Amino acid sequence: MKKFKTESQRVLDLMINSIYTHKEIFLRELLSNASDAIDKLYYKSLSDNLGFSKSDFFIRIEADKDKRTLKIIDNGIGMTADDLDNNLGIIAKSGSLDFKKNNEAKEDINIIGQFGVGFYSSFMVSEKVEVLSRAYGSEEANLWTSSGTEGYEIVKAEKSSHGTEITLHLKPDAEEENYSDFLDEYRIRELVKKYSDYIRYPITMEVEKTREDEEKKEETYKEIETLNSLTPIWKKRKSDIKDEEYNEFYKSAFYDYTDPLKVIHFTAEGALEYKALLFIPGRAPYDYYSRNYEKGLRLYTNGILITEKCAELLPDYFSFVKGLVDSELTLNLSRETVQHDRRLKLIASAIERKIKSELADMLENNREKYEKFFAEFGPQLKYGLYENWGVNKDALKDLVIYKSLVKDKFITFKEYVAAMKEGQKYIYYASGKTADAIKALPQTEKVLDAGYDILCLTEDVDEFAIKVLRDYDKKEFRNVSKDDLGMENEAKPVESEKDKEILAYLKESLGGKVAAVKFGTHLKSHPVCLTSEGELSIGMEKVFNAMPGAKGVSAEKILEINASHPVYARIASLYETDKEKVRDYAEILYGQALLIEGLPLENPAKYSDLVCKVIS
Ligand code: ADP
Repeated sequence: MKKFKTESQRVLDLMINSIYTHKEIFLRELLSNASDAIDKLYYKSLSDNLGFSKSDFFIRIEADKDKRTLKIIDNGIGMTADDLDNNLGIIAKSGSLDFKKNNEAKEDINIIGQFGVGFYSSFMVSEKVEVLSRAYGSEEANLWTSSGTEGYEIVKAEKSSHGTEITLHLKPDAEEENYSDFLDEYRIRELVKKYSDYIRYPITMEVEKTREDEEKKEETYKEIETLNSLTPIWKKRKSDIKDEEYNEFYKSAFYDYTDPLKVIHFTAEGALEYKALLFIPGRAPYDYYSRNYEKGLRLYTNGILITEKCAELLPDYFSFVKGLVDSELTLNLSRETVQHDRRLKLIASAIERKIKSELADMLENNREKYEKFFAEFGPQLKYGLYENWGVNKDALKDLVIYKSLVKDKFITFKEYVAAMKEGQKYIYYASGKTADAIKALPQTEKVLDAGYDILCLTEDVDEFAIKVLRDYDKKEFRNVSKDDLGMENEAKPVESEKDKEILAYLKESLGGKVAAVKFGTHLKSHPVCLTSEGELSIGMEKVFNAMPGAKGVSAEKILEINASHPVYARIASLYETDKEKVRDYAEILYGQALLIEGLPLENPAKYSDLVCKVIS
């Protein structure tokens, strides 16, 4: 008896003790493996001229109520003893199963729902599983047997032709599940229709039928029937496909457990003929924003799967799209060369245009849905804007939305510009953790007062993306925390000779922490804030410094003081009587400004002492 690898062991435990309520998915998993195995042989046949035709292949289901067994048989490529050992001894989807150490039942259900976990799901319904297989081109057959956690055995066996025969010995019926149901013809039909209708090889089963004999008496007879419709869903007419069918196909083919947000199904005709069925997922996969995520569409030619993930078909900024392309042209059949095919590039750019126009349409006509989409995948579009110094900005700039501080809803740049006031030169934005935090920033006061809207940038990538964009419709972007707000009729507070002296003294007290201390133009009711000069904003400084291996970059900060605030009057009078205390005030005001920005105080304990000293 061989032991399962540790990870497989865990999945197996999970399956055997599963409280998952959709145990039925085991059938879809096994049928899809059978179909893949046939695909592999058919593909091999086409490239090595083995002479198979598509009609040579089948998948058969056999239910035996007396023995309580369910068989799934295919005449695909089959497995050698080594294959059995390697493929069924180790969980194949470990890439997508990013196991956490804790083992809560709820999490397990998610794993099953999310990934299906393939062959092992058969243990949700079986107490014993046998896999009899003979690899194409080999005379030898082997039988793999396992009753679950203990381990598995592989022994030499007999099988008349290539392919795989899986026998499930169903668990005894229990309160939580009537396992016998899976032997019921009606139930099997239903499951095949629901999950596996699109499989391109016939899924057959012997079914019982009744007819009248010559004497008009009812007699029963058996007949082999094909349970699936064989037409892949993408080859059906759109009008013949129900939403539910699209959704089920999506979930089973792309391992998701939520319905897609949008289905894009189209046929291209003319010089380049192909069908594409694309999905925008309802939620970002858990690894979407990680390096492990692989983009790509399935590529078929004439219904034969060429590659599972053809990355060339999708630009990075649309990497969230799932789906497939089935080309009517015979693309060069080699999996390697297909990727360099010029036609593939043409298909890719058509697909990109299509996705873009569908998103633009959603943005225009279904804002609520678009906001849902954007909450999941907006950051990816923003990375797209930023990437490669903005080469894709024209494709993407009209697809990003930001929260408007004035309207309190998401708007596009176009909408911002259309609502700009007369005399407003810039598109104003502010960075912060949330729109509420931004609203509370002292720097926004005067801009809002002028009746100008402010876009809320709440993600790290935002300001970088906007920097790359530079302008929209010839209107430049401007950070409200920039020293120069660029507003017309900006009332610049007058600095008297005395004020200049005081401000210089404050700056000197801060010993180089700020580039200047001035009255500035941002403040109305608040006493103090930080602004910056130069290309690097305070928001960007934060992002840079949060990166691993950060070098501690620093924006050129300006401490802005409200000349008409009582605190300044106090400083001015102290300047005459107690200059040392003014130094403390400078530190405190600077500390306040840092806190407003969410920047760390250099020495919180010292700062606290200082405040206490001043207020006591
Ligand atoms: P996945 O199908 O995602 O790879 P599974 O755990 O379902 O994961 O299957 C593991 C592997 O076992 C498959 O990748 C395939 O190589 C092999 N396999 C499973 N079922 C069959 C079958 N019916 N015929 C041939 N090989 C199979």
